[in-house]
Amino acid sequence: MDLLAAGTSVLETLNGAGYEAYFVGGMVRDRLIGRPIYDVDITTSATPDTVMSLFDKTIATGLQHGTVTVMIGKIPVEVTTFRVESHYIDYRRPKEVRFTRSLDEDLRRRDFTINAIAMDREGQLLDPIGGREDLEKSLIVCVGKPTERFQEDPLRILRGIRFVSKLGFSLEAETLAAMIETKELLQQISMERVKKELEGMVKGDFFQKAMNDAYEMDLMSVIPFFNGLNKYRQRCYEAITHPIILFALAGLTCDNLAEYLAAWPFSRVERKCIEVLCHALNQEVDPTYFTYLYGEEWARFYHQMKLFIHQENVPYQVVDLPISDRRELLISGKVIAEVIQRPKGPWIQELLRKIEYLVVMNQLKNEKETLIQYIKNEMEEADDE
Ligand code: ATP
Ligand code: MG
Repeated sequence: MDLLAAGTSVLETLNGAGYEAYFVGGMVRDRLIGRPIYDVDITTSATPDTVMSLFDKTIATGLQHGTVTVMIGKIPVEVTTFRVESHYIDYRRPKEVRFTRSLDEDLRRRDFTINAIAMDREGQLLDPIGGREDLEKSLIVCVGKPTERFQEDPLRILRGIRFVSKLGFSLEAETLAAMIETKELLQQISMERVKKELEGMVKGDFFQKAMNDAYEMDLMSVIPFFNGLNKYRQRCYEAITHPIILFALAGLTCDNLAEYLAAWPFSRVERKCIEVLCHALNQEVDPTYFTYLYGEEWARFYHQMKLFIHQENVPYQVVDLPISDRRELLISGKVIAEVIQRPKGPWIQELLRKIEYLVVMNQLKNEKETLIQYIKNEMEEADDE
């Protein structure tokens, strides 16, 4: 069963029990412009309790917003009860959910007109706000008074830009002006929510357009630690295909990397990756050696960051590493100690590290005799000095 069939069966059950129910949001929007759909949102007059009683398998994924996930086989379908805009406490949590019996009210609490089109199970559209017209004009327009809507939930500013990136649409003039007017409120939004939107933005097909808009609004100045990115204002962002690269660039250009890493809700792996990338860029670590140390995935990020910084366009080349681990070296600390009869000490590790580097860089062959000869030469030179 595909997404649409799963969603339709949910609509049928809800309608059959006497409730109104419609597809809504991104799925309707994306379908109307012929884009692939990845998830299904349904809006209904049934309360969450009723929804849970009507289906065998449900998960209370967002009861505070009136959302229940209905499982149709393995397909999750999000079902949200008609509700009106809730007031937000400190821009993080809605104070209360107020349900309504009116689809019209539910559509009016939504962020943008293109996200406020409902579709019934026969494919009939209900579009009291006129989202279709804006879809045809490729415009992102607030539902209602833009300034008020951004004040209610400033995350919508970033959502708007994420939709620019995803759809390639333009921000309607009044919506854009309100974004600029209220952008400082973004600093009140939890970093988790901000991070998620930024990640979505990087993944969009029209990321360059989104970045142009973001710079036009001077948005980097209000996102914590992103100020330094202003120096990359006029840049081509094509090389940036993964969110971690944007976060690493922000790290590279911010005043205090440690504070930045501590302030954002990065996973341990993400934090490590950003740290490694920033360090490698500052130290100009050789890409081959970088690949050896951190593997190909991060090496690709490193490559893309350099492309971005130098505004070059060189394809990534897979490197063939002579060894993938120090243990593959055909010499060990023990052998070194036997060949060079000296008291053991940190010099052995230092020498091993140097040999490792030269082998990885193809400047020294990983053969026992060659390596022993190299060590003897090194020691003689050291003795001469
Ligand atoms: P996509 O899933 O492609 O990112 P979407 O439009 O489905 O886009 P969701 O975040 O899945 O976005 O939200 C589903 C719908 O819920 C939206 O289309 C919109 O109608 C409404 N919505 C989501 N977040 C907000 C918000 N912060 N303010 C107002 N309405 C919102
Ligand atoms: Mg969605």
